[in-house]
Amino acid sequence: MKTLQDRKSNGSKSESPALNQTKATTSRQVQPEPADKTSHPRRPGLDELVPSRYALKVGEIDVMVISDGVLSLPSAMLGHNAAPSTRSAWLEDKFLPTDNLEWALNAVVVRSGGRTLLIDAGIGMDPGLNLPRAGRLVQRLEAAGIDLESVTDVVLTHMHMDHIGGLLVDGVRDRLRPDLRIHAAAAEAEFWKSPDFSRVSMPPGFPDALRRTGKRFLDEYHSQLRTFENEYEVAPGVLVQRTGGHTPGHSVVRLASRSDRLTFAGDAVFQVGFEHPDWYNGFEHDPEEAARVRVRLLRELAANRESLVATHLSFPSVCHVAVDGDVFRWVPGPWEY
Ligand SMILES: [Zn+2]
Repeated sequence: MKTLQDRKSNGSKSESPALNQTKATTSRQVQPEPADKTSHPRRPGLDELVPSRYALKVGEIDVMVISDGVLSLPSAMLGHNAAPSTRSAWLEDKFLPTDNLEWALNAVVVRSGGRTLLIDAGIGMDPGLNLPRAGRLVQRLEAAGIDLESVTDVVLTHMHMDHIGGLLVDGVRDRLRPDLRIHAAAAEAEFWKSPDFSRVSMPPGFPDALRRTGKRFLDEYHSQLRTFENEYEVAPGVLVQRTGGHTPGHSVVRLASRSDRLTFAGDAVFQVGFEHPDWYNGFEHDPEEAARVRVRLLRELAANRESLVATHLSFPSVCHVAVDGDVFRWVPGPWEY
């Protein structure tokens, strides 16, 4: 009953003092009811301690970073061409464990021009690699009030399993709209027909799982795939651009609206990549090219001062890049809410 009255009073121009009083006096006894005017309705059974979503605006474009969870991976993956002692020193300097590291796994929802885009899809089911703390994307989209059938386009930075696996979870395909378009670079789709793992440095089991997932994805979604050569404007102000390096068709997504800019860099940039852009990540299929791509992108972002979000940077990952001598400096953004 109280809720109904509150709703009525919300209809007037200003919030009534009675409403404020109700909030103040009841907050000690009961949890405040979710405000029905928010865009993130709370649903029973979907609450988590941490909401794991972060919304921001880029001009007219709505952006929401959503965490798929974290991946526990050997620290050597950070830079397999670095001396182990140098790597350990860097980790200790950052107060991080030197054996295994929890890597953030972020996806992004973008709304522009009436379209709803999902950029990357998390890892989905654990492919038997002891990665139980990731694969939460679908649950967290629902908790954020985003129905799978509202997604008009998926944009893939590349087809590693931690970016496509969410689409392969049982039941997900049936809940996506039949006219869903999935955008990826033509070089990426081509690569996964017969992928080359000769230059990576991954933990045991990963190459096979990546091969299997890539193949299954192409089998299940080939009719919805829309490939581009170098770049494609998916929605107003949302441009996906192929960089190569990490994988041959690896791409980044550039958002631009009014004078605001934000780049989702996928796996072109890792946490260590600011200070050690020349360290080869174990998952890079062409490590030298991946390092060149990283340096070029970080230089550009430092020069034009735009925001950066990347898959494996600590959630919510919104940050800026500065030049620091020969390398770069990570400048995390303030939480704004
Ligand atoms: Zn990744």
